[in-house]
Amino acid sequence: EAVLRLDGIEKGYNHGKPNEIRVLRGASVLVHPGEVVALVAPSGAGKSTLLHIAGLLDTPDAGVVEIGGVDLGRAPDRARTTARRAQIGFIYQFHHLLPEFTAAENIILPQLAHGISRGAAEAHAQELLESVGVGPRSGHRPAAMSGGEQQRVAFCRALANRPALLLADEPTGNLDPETSERVFGALMGLVRGRGLAALIATHNMELAARMDRVLRLDNGVLVDAGVTT
Ligand code: ADP
Ligand code: ADP
Repeated sequence: EAVLRLDGIEKGYNHGKPNEIRVLRGASVLVHPGEVVALVAPSGAGKSTLLHIAGLLDTPDAGVVEIGGVDLGRAPDRARTTARRAQIGFIYQFHHLLPEFTAAENIILPQLAHGISRGAAEAHAQELLESVGVGPRSGHRPAAMSGGEQQRVAFCRALANRPALLLADEPTGNLDPETSERVFGALMGLVRGRGLAALIATHNMELAARMDRVLRLDNGVLVDAGVTT
């Protein structure tokens, strides 16, 4: 069964006004467990809009948004928030780590909020940090870490509560090409190791080609980009 199913998603802004814009015009996608899908789109095509709808942060005008087989597109806010916290991890171009806390604490805190015991949360944080090569940095605050290290900590935080679905918007877009390459490898290791379903937006076609499938957002619909790996 698909972890994420978007079917016929329509979304626009400023409905009924002269500056009305239709962004999504029937976008559909299925992402299964263990499947990593690249989302490639020119700026302004609606990539963030699509990721926000898939992440239950925004509602579509029409269409189905299923997470783990449950239609949540128009579910009450509480059900959407609960599903988002339990099932979805987010990664952005910028890390958004809490600056006053250490790397480990940034990964422990969301677990405590989720009802995990401190001991289990600490062990999981350490396991995550070690798996992306920043175990020795666990006691450092973000400001004391390099950009690539900060972003790897952000990956760990996104997976802290063991989501089934990972949504990422240009996860290495803020890094130089060499660091981006290395950090992307760490992300893929995490995602593959945990059998996650992932939808990862990127402008980098070399990174996109390392995923299982490449989709292009074209005129409001998702089309197979036909990239062979
Ligand atoms: P991308 O992430 O691909 O750059 P977005 O999803 O951010 O694209 O935006 C798609 C289009 O929708 C753009 O033309 C943008 O200006 C417009 N848009 C996005 N959010 C809003 C909003 N809240 N109100 C009005 N227009 C918006
Ligand atoms: P928390 O559990 O910290 O209160 P939420 O349940 O509100 O967080 O959101 C879960 C995740 O969704 C957050 O980690 C954040 O990355 C992302 N998120 C929440 N609101 C927004 C938003 N308005 N724009 C982008 N991302 C958001």
